[in-house]
Amino acid sequence: MYTISKDVGGIVLICHDCPHIERVNGFSETLGSRRTQAAWAMKVHSRDKHGADSVLRAIPKKPAMRSQP
Ligand SMILES: [Zn+2]
Repeated sequence: MYTISKDVGGIVLICHDCPHIERVNGFSETLGSRRTQAAWAMKVHSRDKHGADSVLRAIPKKPAMRSQP
């Protein structure tokens, strides 16, 4: 999983599981949509570095917080 964000260099995809980022501007438009390529690169990163489960894993449900009775 990743978050799409924006910084001075343009749109960046930020990995949820580590500080890895993919810069959309780092891809060539001659190969197609740069954003699609960045998303793909992030998918590959996620699979390679965090395992296939990381891509498919559902967001874990947190137990309900009951600090107040
Ligand atoms: Zn990562």
